Amino acid sequence: MDTNLSLMIREMEEYAEENNVPIMQKEGIEFLTTFIMKNQIEKVLEVGTAIGYSAIRMALTNSNLKVVTIERDEERYLEALKNIKKFNLEDRVTLIFSDALDVVLDGEFDLIFLDGAKGKNIEFFEHFERNLSHNGYFITDNIGFHGYVEKDEFEIKSKNLRALVRKIKNYIEYLKNSKEYHTKFYDKGDGIAVTSRRENG
Ligand code: SAM
Repeated sequence: MDTNLSLMIREMEEYAEENNVPIMQKEGIEFLTTFIMKNQIEKVLEVGTAIGYSAIRMALTNSNLKVVTIERDEERYLEALKNIKKFNLEDRVTLIFSDALDVVLDGEFDLIFLDGAKGKNIEFFEHFERNLSHNGYFITDNIGFHGYVEKDEFEIKSKNLRALVRKIKNYIEYLKNSKEYHTKFYDKGDGIAVTSRRENG
């Protein structure tokens, strides 16, 4: 990657850190971009753009790759628009300002990346399942949720956090119990799940 691009990426990482915007951890983004290259992914749907960091990193893996990404927070959406423009990716990264559950899309994607509200993954999964191509994958980030998913409930003091962790655990069970989909869990970044149709191995 050329120095200028690396600098622009570093600037986004710094902005995210300074403004408390949660973006993918280094190990997670490396896993995601490597997965995209290995599996020749060309159409991605992302739930949860934030400032466009992961959408841009994905788009930079391959000049044929197209990303549709959805964000409901206006400030982050506007920042993502700026970043996508800065990287000259307007023709390949389409940004939608909306709650993802209100978005109805036509067409299929070979990767659907779930990185929105962590308690809503089952809803996102079921809402966009119809847009997953036959050989496509769902990838879900934050399956470990900063180590909390491994903890016993009584160790988690905050009621809201306990409720959120319970929802993530439910999602993990939902994936594990699915008759239609198979999921592999990776201890990378904040924990990543890769889901594909069972019939595809
Ligand atoms: N994927 C981004 C990255 O790594 O650069 C980080 C996304 S951040 C973890 C999650 C984002 O999802 C937040 O900006 C939040 O506003 C957005 N979000 C949460 N629930 C959403 C929903 N239902 N629809 C659209 N965006 C949502």
